[in-house]
Amino acid sequence: MIVLEQKDQLKEKLKEIFGYTTFRGNQETVIKNILSGRNTFVIMPTGAGKSLCYQLPAMIKDGLAIVISPLIALMKNQVDQLNAYGINARFLNSTLSKGEITRLKKECINGDVKLLYVAPESLNKEENIAFLQKVNVSFVAIDEAHCISEWGHDFRPEYRKIKTMIAQFGSLPVIALTATATPKVQIDIQKNLQMEEADVFISSFNRRNLYYEVRPKKETKKQLIRFLKDHKGKSGVIYCLSRKKVEEIAQLLNVNGFNAAPYHAGLDPDVRVKNQDDFLNEEVDIIVATIAFGMGIDKPDVRFVIHYDVPKSLEGYYQETGRSGRDGLEGICLMFYSHNDLNKLEKFNKDKSVQERENARMLLQEMEFYAESPVCRRMQLLHYFGEEYKEGNCGMCDNCVHPRERFDGTEAVGIVLEAVKQTNERFGLVHLVNVIRGVEDEYVKSYAHFDLAIYGKGDTESEDHWKSVIRQTLIYQYLEKDIENIGVLTLSEKGKKFMVKPHPVELAKDHDFTTEIGDEEGSERVIINTKSYDVRLFEMLKALRKQIAKSKDLPPYVIFQDPSLEEMATTYPTTKDELASVNGVGMGKVNKFGKEFLELIEQYVDEHDIETAADVVVKSSVNKSKIKIFIIQQIDRKVDLDEIAESKNIPFSEMMTEIENICYSGTRLNLDYYIDSVLDEDKQEQIYDYFLNSETDSIEDAVSAMKDEDSDFSEENLRLMRIKFLSEYAI
Ligand code: ADP
Ligand code: MG
Ligand code: ZN
Repeated sequence: MIVLEQKDQLKEKLKEIFGYTTFRGNQETVIKNILSGRNTFVIMPTGAGKSLCYQLPAMIKDGLAIVISPLIALMKNQVDQLNAYGINARFLNSTLSKGEITRLKKECINGDVKLLYVAPESLNKEENIAFLQKVNVSFVAIDEAHCISEWGHDFRPEYRKIKTMIAQFGSLPVIALTATATPKVQIDIQKNLQMEEADVFISSFNRRNLYYEVRPKKETKKQLIRFLKDHKGKSGVIYCLSRKKVEEIAQLLNVNGFNAAPYHAGLDPDVRVKNQDDFLNEEVDIIVATIAFGMGIDKPDVRFVIHYDVPKSLEGYYQETGRSGRDGLEGICLMFYSHNDLNKLEKFNKDKSVQERENARMLLQEMEFYAESPVCRRMQLLHYFGEEYKEGNCGMCDNCVHPRERFDGTEAVGIVLEAVKQTNERFGLVHLVNVIRGVEDEYVKSYAHFDLAIYGKGDTESEDHWKSVIRQTLIYQYLEKDIENIGVLTLSEKGKKFMVKPHPVELAKDHDFTTEIGDEEGSERVIINTKSYDVRLFEMLKALRKQIAKSKDLPPYVIFQDPSLEEMATTYPTTKDELASVNGVGMGKVNKFGKEFLELIEQYVDEHDIETAADVVVKSSVNKSKIKIFIIQQIDRKVDLDEIAESKNIPFSEMMTEIENICYSGTRLNLDYYIDSVLDEDKQEQIYDYFLNSETDSIEDAVSAMKDEDSDFSEENLRLMRIKFLSEYAI
């Protein structure tokens, strides 16, 4: 086995195979963990990049990695994506013919296959177990691991037998992955897989690129059409509660000239599969669906998810909205909200047991609070998953972009906390509101709460006002939910401190969905990033991608994803190497699909007389790339580095980072004029020698190694010399 101890080597592999320059979130630590043979449990939100956590190790380790995945229908899709990278991944399921299976088994036994996707139902077959016992298996990955848990949302009985199945291949490291964050599910999964000792990696559930907005459900069809007109040609999903509504809206959209198709469990399976494929293949822009649509759909460029009806729970809402913007680009999440929808949903539960009804009611109440709340949507969603969002105005939700009217809530919070304390931390929202407002109902009477000092202290304000205040007090963590007793609110440490020593708290007014009329501002509210790339070229690249995809019978994003096309439309790569350096491309894809794209760009560049600045690579936005071009030009003119930083009004260290990026992306820079002015020849030589003999180019290592030398070297000087060294040797 190859041991990759150097993180840079892992990065190299990432670039070489997948064309990405950096790991996202926990990916790198997770990958190292499974590479070291440890059992690993990964909780990451949808779209965060779980697949890579087992795909990259599968490529690095000797042998074949088994990937257990729930949906046969989607295995082909995942395998296609990997094959496009030049990775030998395959699936084993009932859609294969006898002959295909025999050949596949042979290839696996010969050690040619790196990843084998299989559903638990197939894995459980005796002949498959016997076959896999002959294969050199590197490790087992269990994707969508929440399917193991009865407490999860897509429980699959076969999943509970996985441990017994894989035990028959010997003792292999296991990596289980899921986007479900609740502790109950997590414990259940670990128990069932007998991997309580596994290392657990939980990522933040914050999806920075998603924009959340809730609008009143008034003139909804008009609002919807206006929104879609502003986002014409983009991929999106519209969720409706009923099949009937799905059909109705899909038809409405088609009549209005949009390219939409319905998806629900009542459709003929052939039609359903066709509509889903058309969506993946960009034959259809919009899918109108019930929640039956979505699990395992890895379309990376879904630009919006609209909830035409109110969803049943915040968890469901979060998972559904999570399907937008997987590629890190725009993802707009819009919900139409009305009380009426809540009432409808409540009625669905009338045949359930008392306990189930109560649970469902609590979920709906959370939904109501979320929709009507003036608090940052992101903060609320994260709070729901037990995560604290501390970054202030997120700038990416309606409540942050259009803040609600605020008021000094110091006294109100004090009253709420006092009410919780005086009722001995044993009650929920409704009772607390009654106590505060002095409403004498049965409960107040039976507990004699009219005797409390706090009783009636807030009788000048409305019921809705106090509900809102209590909810905000909870979200801002002065109160906590009691874990054992559903609905009961208790004082948190922060709340107790506040009672001893209050500090000013600002609260905001709830949305009023009873009187608010259809908002004329409508879709203009949504901030659309101004395009920093060449839109015309981007569209041409997209068209070419679609054409190639069609001829190869693959979804377009398997060829290249949108962020890669955007980058091409920014940097205009015209050689294979330049193309390979585009994020998400890599040499495998260049060789497979590169030729036609390069020809197109070449022609475009010629026709439009574009300076390709072939030496400036990797730009994320015009602003940034402008700075890079500026820096390169200034260095060419031998301008003092301090001066360059000053004229761009950026800190020196930030400019150094820019220079390093330029250098690492393959542009040679001659900094001699500046280095000569700050370091004498002797010192230069010392540092130069160090880099020449060192195994890493890490500055930290250099700083500590150079400490032993008599002279003191600043980090800045070491960075400068590293650039010089790299420019002369590595580029
Ligand atoms: P999940 O399974 O967690 O929902 P996926 O594995 O499907 O997410 O990945 C979501 C998207 O993120 C994919 O389009 C994938 O190409 C992209 N992605 C994953 N890792 C990286 C990375 N390190 N850099 C850039 N894009 C990445
Ligand atoms: Mg996934
Ligand atoms: Zn916000």
